[in-house]
Order: sequence, then structure tokens, then C-alpha cells
Amino acid sequence: MKTVSSLLDAEWHERYKRISRLNIRSSIYDVTNRCNLRCKGCFFFSSGEDKAAAEETDIRKWEAFIDREKERGVNLAILIGGEPTLCMDRVEAFYKRLPSFCATNGLIKLDRDRFPDLMVGISLWGDEEDEKLLRGKDAFAISSKNYAGDPNAYYLYTITPRQLGKTGRIIRKIRDAGLKVHMQLLSNDEGVDGFSWRPDELAAIRDEMDDALDRYPETVISSKYYHEIITTGRMLDRTFGWRECPSVTEPLDTRDPRPRRLIHFIRWASDLQTMHRCCTSETRDCSTCKDGAAHMSWVMVNKRAHIRTAKDLRNWIEIYEMFAKLYQFIPW
Ligand code: SF4
Ligand code: SF4
Repeated sequence: MKTVSSLLDAEWHERYKRISRLNIRSSIYDVTNRCNLRCKGCFFFSSGEDKAAAEETDIRKWEAFIDREKERGVNLAILIGGEPTLCMDRVEAFYKRLPSFCATNGLIKLDRDRFPDLMVGISLWGDEEDEKLLRGKDAFAISSKNYAGDPNAYYLYTITPRQLGKTGRIIRKIRDAGLKVHMQLLSNDEGVDGFSWRPDELAAIRDEMDDALDRYPETVISSKYYHEIITTGRMLDRTFGWRECPSVTEPLDTRDPRPRRLIHFIRWASDLQTMHRCCTSETRDCSTCKDGAAHMSWVMVNKRAHIRTAKDLRNWIEIYEMFAKLYQFIPW
């Protein structure tokens, strides 16, 4: 029988042991329904999730809710929206109670005296031209000034088909700002012309992502297995989609048979009562879903399937480590 020990040498076994101890229990929170941008293709607004619930404005109710989430076993609060930095008091309520991560467009700088080590993931949607087209402004020009050299911030670079051949330049800009980058792919929820992926483009971007990791290993937080999974939607002999997705809100998960999934995962709306279907768009056709975190989690919850060959298990470890770095469970 194949076992972890029989497949790994001493160094990989150490790496395996380090992540096995983590026991990550994440949930996602819409901190607000508002944003200071309106990006074309934003899953939150395009799916109407901004209208699903009225925002709770009483900070004491947020604090009590977060305490309950902690009691529920959550040890990673992923703050999204909308734009969380529009509500710093809510961000602070999470930060003081739970290990937290804040997704932001980076236009408003988090005060590092108030949030010294809060991990910040700054969204980036391409080069200057694409950001202006999709987001209405060159957000990078502002966010890179706000966070230059910050050791607890990285870019979450959503790659579009129009970025083919251009990713190297962007990654160098990020490196030169003293920051790191993690890549994912646009799902094009609003069907913007020219921004849906064709199979040949997915194959080409996989090569480009692999090349970026080889050339800028200090800047790019990624793994080649992740690139394979995200561009093919395939893991071992399985296809990603609704039947396999691990990131469905647990109390709403009526799938039978139930796949391996994130334990106790919930995505909460900003009224602190309503739950959304999953970690991303409520209305997205799962067969088109390119959500990076959902694909990473898909691998992570399927450890047993990777205890097959040494290569498969090392691939699993690399993706787990990548996730753990992105959410500050282990250092860069
Ligand atoms: S910055 Fe984020 S939340 Fe705001 S519109 Fe763009 S994608 Fe949506
Ligand atoms: S849209 Fe993506 S993350 Fe949401 S349930 Fe479907 S596959 Fe999962």
C-alpha cells in the first residue's frame, strides 16, 4: 500500500509535516456591499450579491458575530466585498479576533500602525490599458504606491486572455515595487468581448505562468501543478465543476453524493445572516468557473487521491504550501 512515508524523502516529509499541522478552517465575509470601483466582470456585482442583503452597520453586532464565528472553529477570515477598506472598523473587528486576510483594490491604504501584519491581497486585472478598460482606471499606479515594499501584501493578478505575452512585464513591475504576486484567471462573468478563454489561449497562458515561476521565483507565489489545474480544470482523472467544488457554503450544500469539501465553510453576506452559495459568484455557471482559491482548495481537500505517486504527493504539498503562504500560515 502507498503511504506518505513511502513516497517522500526526508526533506519532503518535513515539508509535509509542517503543513499537516495547520488544520485551516476558513470562511469568507462580505464586509460591505459597496466599492469605490465597478469592474466589468466583478463577480460580486454581476451576480447581484450586493443586493442580496442589507449591510449591518452596528459594529457591536459585527463583533459578536465574529466571536461566534471563532467559536464555530473558523481560524481564517477572508474579508471581501465590495471593498473592505471602506469599513475599517469592521476590518479591525476581524483583525483583533481572528487570523484575517483582506482582499482590496488597493486604492485606500490600510494604516500599518492600526493593522501592522494584516495580509493584504491587492487585485490587479492586467496592464494599464486593460485596467482602464475593465476597471475604469489604472488601479496599479495607485495601489503600488500605497503598498510598495510591504512585506504583508501581494498582488492577486487576474489574468485575462488579452494578457497573453504581457504577463512578464507586469510581474517585473510588481517585483520592482518590492511585492509578490499570485496569479489566477478571469472567469468573464459579464461576457466582455474578447475576455473569454479559448482552449489554445489556456494552453498558452499555462506555459507563460510556468515561465514566470521559473524566472521570478522570489516574486511569484505559485506552483506548476496549480497552473495545470487552473488552465485544464482537470485534477488526476477528474473534472472541476459543481459536483467536485469544495467551496460551497456548508449549510446550503445539498449535493448527493457530497464531494470532499472545506469543513464548515460559509460565505456570509454583510447582513451577517444571509449565506451565498459559494466562495464566488452566486450565478456563475460552474463549468466556466476559474476561481483560483476554489481550484486550490479542490486539490487540498483531496490529499488521499494524491497518495499515488511521489510526484502527485509533492504536487499536493506544493499547492498546500502556496495556500498557506498566501494566508500567512507559513512564511513566504
Ligand atoms: S474592486 Fe473588486 S469588489 Fe470592487 S468592483 Fe472591482 S472586482 Fe468588484
Ligand atoms: S461557481 Fe465556482 S466556486 Fe462557485 S460553486 Fe461553482 S465551481 Fe464552485
